Amino acid sequence: MTSADRLRAAGVRCAVDAQGWVRCPVCGCKTRTKARPDTVLANFPLFCPKCHRETVVSLGTEGGPAVRP
Ligand SMILES: [Zn+2]
Repeated sequence: MTSADRLRAAGVRCAVDAQGWVRCPVCGCKTRTKARPDTVLANFPLFCPKCHRETVVSLGTEGGPAVRP
């Protein structure tokens, strides 16, 4: 199992930058998806335009701040 497959299976948490752009958990690049500090995503298929991968992510569903300043 590759690390990407593990990420896909787990529904990883992803980071959001100061502008609200959701970051790709695979390469760390900015995606075209935005989120608010109070946005909640569960098992969202996040597509990254940089590495062309779709990763299932969760955001703000496990408590704690979703947005990193
Ligand atoms: Zn990526």
